Amino acid sequence: MKDMTCPHCGDKLKRFQTPPESSWGQRSWLVCFNDHCPYFSEGWTHMHEQYRVVCSYRYRFDPALGQSAPMVVYSAEMGLDHIVGE
Ligand SMILES: [Zn+2]
Repeated sequence: MKDMTCPHCGDKLKRFQTPPESSWGQRSWLVCFNDHCPYFSEGWTHMHEQYRVVCSYRYRFDPALGQSAPMVVYSAEMGLDHIVGE
């Protein structure tokens, strides 16, 4: 898989393996795990102001579908233990 970068912060995307027990099924995504990414850091404010919920999202690219979509997270640590490779 070739390296891809986040369109919001330019950081290299990390390979993320979904937990087999998750509702997503076992999938492999490319996700921006930069905590300073504006997409992620501004997401907290946006979600709280719009929906009164404490969550944000990270930029995610699904290589199988060739599409990107936000990955909702409830903490900055969420998902870190499912990053594979490097
Ligand atoms: Zn980013």
